[in-house]
Amino acid sequence: MNWLIKGGRVVDPAQGLDDVRDVLVRDGRIIKVGPNLKAAPDCKELEATGKVVAPGFIDMHVHLREPGQEDKETIESGLRAAARGGFTAVCCMPNTDPPLDNPALIAYVLQKSRELNLSRLYPIANITKGGRGEEISEMVELAEAGAVAFSDDGRPVPNSRVMRQAMEYARLVNRPIVSHCEDLELTRGGQMNEGPYSYRWGLRGMPAAAEEIMVARDLRLAALTGGRLHLAHLSSRGSVELLRLARREGIPVTAEVTPHHLLLTEETVKGYDTSAKVNPPLRGAEDTRALKQALAEGLLDAIASDHAPHTREEKEAEFEAAPFGISGLETVVPLVVTFLILPGIISWTRAVSLLSRQPAAILGLPGGSLTSGQAADITVIDPDLEMPVDPQQFQSRGKSTPFRGWRLRGWPLATMVGGNLVMYRGRILEP
Ligand SMILES: [Zn+2]
Repeated sequence: MNWLIKGGRVVDPAQGLDDVRDVLVRDGRIIKVGPNLKAAPDCKELEATGKVVAPGFIDMHVHLREPGQEDKETIESGLRAAARGGFTAVCCMPNTDPPLDNPALIAYVLQKSRELNLSRLYPIANITKGGRGEEISEMVELAEAGAVAFSDDGRPVPNSRVMRQAMEYARLVNRPIVSHCEDLELTRGGQMNEGPYSYRWGLRGMPAAAEEIMVARDLRLAALTGGRLHLAHLSSRGSVELLRLARREGIPVTAEVTPHHLLLTEETVKGYDTSAKVNPPLRGAEDTRALKQALAEGLLDAIASDHAPHTREEKEAEFEAAPFGISGLETVVPLVVTFLILPGIISWTRAVSLLSRQPAAILGLPGGSLTSGQAADITVIDPDLEMPVDPQQFQSRGKSTPFRGWRLRGWPLATMVGGNLVMYRGRILEP
């Protein structure tokens, strides 16, 4: 399909562009970005006056649950959620059942995603066999099969020797290690952030130190090995300070943050609300301030959802029994617009970097810019569209979100993948 995306505010940090432009798409590729472009007769027009047109957004941290836990999510429902959320690509974590620790399963999820004609899928493979933390996986073969990074996300790699070896291999295959930083001995049985609220509500706490200890360890291992480290879902002020020091030292490290860790505090758990039960837990107001500050300064590199869907029954269990995780893919964009861009914490350009250009750079993925010749992966946002978060409208099977009922502005209007319009006005378009 050939397209002329007409009259939108094109925000493309790669070209230093933030201005009204047309975007011409032919045979799945971007041909030209410029003022007053003419459409060929076979070209469809997508009217974008008053809308923001950006390089396709990439969510580098999602859980799609297939294979093995299809009642929570499938590759199809997850990719539909991605398309509705304005993401043209997502990276899926390997803690499925069986886990993505072998090349055949990497090939399987890639194959499955390509048949769907939705958003792109880039799999992340296990660091260790079975995600058990004992022995590193066949990282060379996994990279060859298409793994874009390695992670045992959901769990840390507790053994420092194994983690060191993984980082040495990561350097060899030129892929980052995405680290879930948690000292399991300190968080065992934990339900929420450790602090006055966990004491008051009688819930076992997970101290910020449990995250910071592992952040510190992994930063030292990155310095030791030269392997690229990417810190997943940072949640505490202390982690931000460690990252700041590591940057000064020139350690090869990048980091992501989720909207819920930026915007919510531990008080959200009030009333034992399981939709606020996430790992790492929601922390204090000082932590959210530090994270926002780090985002504004450019210290943090990416915003990722940590989309972690569960069934209704699981999340409706009592707090101690409910699993960690929320359905995040479909609320990232309007949360970023409403609470980070509109109040002036970050610019549109910076937001597009955090959601597209930098995730692509960290993982060595195509995309992240609207330069001519690139595949036409494009996210269009309506900055004025305001509506409440209604989980019943989610394409994801997971409906648990602490943002239920929040009125947000700046919802994605269209998601285009390789020149195919896969979502328009919230509806998934069948190919
Ligand atoms: Zn995760």
